[in-house]
Amino acid sequence: MEFFPIFLKLRQQPCLVVGGGEVALRKARLLLAAGAALKVAAPELAPELAELAAAGELEHLPRRYEPAMLDGLRLAVAATDDADTNRRVAADAEARGVLVNVVDDAESSRYISPAVIDRSPLMVAVASGGSVPVLARSIRARLESLIPAGYGRLARFGASFRDAVKARFPDVDARRRFWETALEGPLADMVMNGDEEAARAEMARRIATDAPDRAGAVYLVGAGPGNPDLLTFRALRLMQQADVVLYDKLVAPELLQLVRRDAERIYVGKARANHALPQDDINQLLVDLARQGKRVLRLKGGDPFTFGRGGEEIATLAEQGIAFEVVPGITSASGAAAYAGIPLTHRDYAQSVTFVTGHKQDGSMDLDWQALTRPQQTVVVYMGVSTAAELCQAFVDNGRAAATPAAAVEWATTDRQRTVCGTLATLPGLMASHGIASPALIIVGEVVELADKLAWYRRSENSAVTIQED
Ligand code: SAH
Repeated sequence: MEFFPIFLKLRQQPCLVVGGGEVALRKARLLLAAGAALKVAAPELAPELAELAAAGELEHLPRRYEPAMLDGLRLAVAATDDADTNRRVAADAEARGVLVNVVDDAESSRYISPAVIDRSPLMVAVASGGSVPVLARSIRARLESLIPAGYGRLARFGASFRDAVKARFPDVDARRRFWETALEGPLADMVMNGDEEAARAEMARRIATDAPDRAGAVYLVGAGPGNPDLLTFRALRLMQQADVVLYDKLVAPELLQLVRRDAERIYVGKARANHALPQDDINQLLVDLARQGKRVLRLKGGDPFTFGRGGEEIATLAEQGIAFEVVPGITSASGAAAYAGIPLTHRDYAQSVTFVTGHKQDGSMDLDWQALTRPQQTVVVYMGVSTAAELCQAFVDNGRAAATPAAAVEWATTDRQRTVCGTLATLPGLMASHGIASPALIIVGEVVELADKLAWYRRSENSAVTIQED
């Protein structure tokens, strides 16, 4: 071990940064965040450092470095752009037993600053011994996505129960098991979602009862339009913690691979008019699984509250008093728009956008055509593949020009994405001749013309934009 990792309490401790430029500024900011009593030695300060000095956040020593500046310090940073000066600072600090870091020179440094994920009081530090800082930073970036922003709150919550839990479980192993279930399950989510009162009550209950059973919960999670890169951090974390996952047809196999390997997987279908499980049964299944104490992941394509019947599923949970959380996802309209180069609004062409379903309820398409055919708007139709011809005709019958640009985007954002662009008059024929099938969206409005210029995503040969020429 080349460097020994420690966390240093610097509050009100005398520290010094030698140098007044950008690098010095970065170091000064970190030290100030740790509450150090900071001096900065440099004939001149970069503007932001000067501001900090003017605000009384740090003390400016407006002269060249001299060894006496190091007397009585806890820690010093050499951050000038002159390697000789930096090395001199290091040698003088060493002679005085002051901890010293030389920027970009691990050799001359007594300590190095790691890349930090700050969820105070929880801290994660990553270092590469000063040799490949980029590597440490890229690991940091990955960890940032894995550790929820609310972890600090969770750590403080846990700390407030430390004595009570210790008294209740004198045995170290029992204590560790208790904390594991408490801090990794739904109770932890309660804390991070801000429901501390309920979390405290639950914690008190668990400490009081002999065999603390785990409360289950349901997570209604939007998986986005299909490309795994478009998941949210929250969705990914929940996928990796779930005990059981309920998914349907729209959830791409690439996404399911990200679910914890030993989680139980239940397919609940949802091909149109061919439900593998009726909605009521899905709702009840969610309740039953949560009652067994499981962390239930209900994974939905796109966003759960956009044509996803998410509201119905959690209504049952709410009635039955089951804890639940809803995680938004990128709805397919946003995904298709971005990946097909069709902005949904545009200052010149569309001041509003409307999402509608082309799915027929009882065989009739019950849409407000007067509103949908107003000019200067974009309409995105979900579930409209099988009714495309009727839809496009209805737009025209109700007053939109037959030459209005229209597109269909199939399997948006995935490597199977295909886009066909035409007009209200030609789109149904184009969709048929290209074999466009569900899942696909139909986008109607002048913005469709921009795809010609703005389409950028061409993962496969298939995904090339087909623009009708006429
Ligand atoms: N909750 C989902 C929509 C569910 S309705 C969301 O927010 O996106 C199902 C319809 O969504 C499909 O018929 C199709 O119109 C659309 N859809 C879902 N994923 C899609 C994708 N990757 N590409 C194109 N359309 C998609």
